[in-house]
Amino acid sequence: MLLARGMLIVLSGPSGVGKGTVREAMLKESINKFKYSVSMTTRPMRPGEKNGVDYFFCSKNEFEEKIRQGEMLEYARYVDNYYGTPLRYVQDTLASGNDVFLEIEVKGAMQVRKKMPDGVFIFLTPPDLSSLRSRITHRGSEDSTTIDKRMEKARQEIKMMSNYDYAVVNDEVPKAVKRIEQIVNSEHLRVSRV
Ligand code: 5GP
Repeated sequence: MLLARGMLIVLSGPSGVGKGTVREAMLKESINKFKYSVSMTTRPMRPGEKNGVDYFFCSKNEFEEKIRQGEMLEYARYVDNYYGTPLRYVQDTLASGNDVFLEIEVKGAMQVRKKMPDGVFIFLTPPDLSSLRSRITHRGSEDSTTIDKRMEKARQEIKMMSNYDYAVVNDEVPKAVKRIEQIVNSEHLRVSRV
C-alpha cells in the first residue's frame, strides 16, 4: 500500500483568542499525532519564548531573502512584523505521512488555501470581543497602542471567518480541543482521503 499523505490542518483566529494554548494542548494530549510547523518571524522574542521552538526569530533582511528564494509557503505582515511558514518542512512532513499543524493569521491562511486546497481550515473564535481585549491586556507583553492595533486587526479577522471550513468557539480550552479533534477525526475518514 502506498504511504498516505499527511493532512494539513490550519488554525487561525484573532490575537489573544488562545490559539497558542489550544495548539499546545492539542500537541500534548491529542491521540492524533500532529507535527507543528514552527513559523518564522521578525518580531522581538517575548519572555519565555525559545528560538526554534516558538518561532524562528530572524531579521527583516533574512526574512525578505527567504521570500525571494521561494522558501516560504505563505507569509504576511502583521502589526509591523513579518510572519511566515517555511515551505520545506511542510512538504517533507506531509510526504512522510504525518499531519502538519499550522497556527497562522488569516491572510497567510488564505494563501495556503490557494496552494493546498485539501487542507482543513479551522477558525478559533472568542466568545465575545471584550473577553479578547482582557486576554490581550492580561498577557502584559504589549503596550496600549499595540493592543489597540491588535483589537482592530481582530475585528477584521473575525469578518474573514466565512472563508474557513469550521468555526470553533474557545470558551474553555479542553472543549475547544475536543471540537478540533472531532473535526480532524472526521476529516481523516473522508472518502477522498482514505
Ligand atoms: P504573535 O505575535 O502573537 O505570536 O502572533 C501574531 C499573529 O501571527 C497570530 O495571529 C499568529 O497566529 C500569526 N502567525 C504566527 N505564525 C505565522 C505564520 O507563519 N504565518 C502567518 N501568516 N501568521 C502567523
